[in-house]
Amino acid sequence: MSELEGKRVFVTGSGAGIGKAIATLFTQRGARVVVSDINADAAEQTAAEIGAAGVANCDVTDEAQVQSAIAQAVEILGGLDVLVNNAGIEVSSPLLHQSTESFDRIHAVNVRGPFVAMKAAIGHLIESTGNVVNIASIAGIGGSPLLGSYCASKAALIQLTRVAAVEMRPTGVRFNAVCPGFADTAMVERLVPDFEAATQMPFGDLVAMKQGRLGTPEDIAEVAAFLASDRASWITGASYVLDGGLTASLV
Ligand code: NAP
Repeated sequence: MSELEGKRVFVTGSGAGIGKAIATLFTQRGARVVVSDINADAAEQTAAEIGAAGVANCDVTDEAQVQSAIAQAVEILGGLDVLVNNAGIEVSSPLLHQSTESFDRIHAVNVRGPFVAMKAAIGHLIESTGNVVNIASIAGIGGSPLLGSYCASKAALIQLTRVAAVEMRPTGVRFNAVCPGFADTAMVERLVPDFEAATQMPFGDLVAMKQGRLGTPEDIAEVAAFLASDRASWITGASYVLDGGLTASLV
């Protein structure tokens, strides 16, 4: 039997990048996935490509949209076993030069989004003894120039994951975070020019030195699939780092 056979899954931000890889791999492993994105065309295209169970779009900053999308997913799937909070944005800016509006926006997507989604999903997850996989980042563990508000938002997401795991342990619902290093998506492409200007180093050299190679969206989907599966039944409150050794290195 496939690792995720029959699991009913909702993935935010799954029209592109890591979310799309998660929706794809989960489907290949037997899950029934509802794709969701702020970009409706991207979501439709992903769903058609992978043979998803359906589409239920939302902008994760809008609580009513999130509640409605999760209700639609439950309707399509007949319940919910796994919520993957993947939607996230980056902002590249020296921290103390960043506008307050931009700081609020990144927290609205990266922290408040998963928070409202977990609240909307928890009743269904208790019913199925399901689990949540939050896509955080190594930026939630170590600091990085230009990524101050992003680092703060991902640290907050790791902490939400831990507290939810502890509080919800009696229900059997598990909460885990995945903390990737730099991976090959549009998000990282957008960061490259500013990183090269700040470090005076080609981004490829920085990546080779610090993490061996760029991660692939599929690397991250593999860890998410494991955490979502029954093989991880004793794992909750964990933050899984996958970064080619970047955070392990002092030099
Ligand atoms: P990406 O390539 O930018 O894809 C993100 C997807 O989420 C896009 O389809 C995007 O739509 C959508 N999205 C953005 N804002 C949204 C919102 N408010 N509501 C719903 N969907 C929204 O990013 P990615 O690299 O795949 O990143 C996915 C997750 O992994 C994020 O949480 C990110 O922080 C995390 N992560 C990424 C890396 C990396 O190196 N790539 C490393 C560590 C962690 P639009 O394109 O239309 O905006």
